[in-house]
Amino acid sequence: MTAPYPGRCACGTVTLEISGEPIATRQCWCRQCQQLAAGGPTNNAIFKADDVAIEGELASSTWVAASGNTLTFHFCPGCGTQIFAQSSARPHLKTMRLGALDAGHGLKPDAVIWTDDAPEWAHLDPALDAWPQQPPPPPQAT
Ligand SMILES: [Zn+2]
Ligand SMILES: [Zn+2]
Repeated sequence: MTAPYPGRCACGTVTLEISGEPIATRQCWCRQCQQLAAGGPTNNAIFKADDVAIEGELASSTWVAASGNTLTFHFCPGCGTQIFAQSSARPHLKTMRLGALDAGHGLKPDAVIWTDDAPEWAHLDPALDAWPQQPPPPPQAT
């Protein structure tokens, strides 16, 4: 599938549509992602913020991430589905959670990051670029 990518939260209160292709896709095993994702990694696609349209009210919480950047997590206040993360370092990008995109989107992680924090039982795809911690920003990120 190619853009536009539709999506929604588990309860359907929040809907979204993404009109462009991601500039990077990543699986993240940092500790905060494991807390959000029930012990597993988060799977994310980074889009230009201008390409993302979201309808419905979002709740948010802000943490200082392992990278040192401030991350604001936006989620549905009704069902808790994580929709996207916003980094203070890159306001023009949105890190969308793949789980918020409708089935059939066809996107998958191209890299796995924060492997230092992955539990010993984690199965990391050896075909993916792996970064022990935070990688450099994607080349098209500026
Ligand atoms: Zn919801
Ligand atoms: Zn993470």
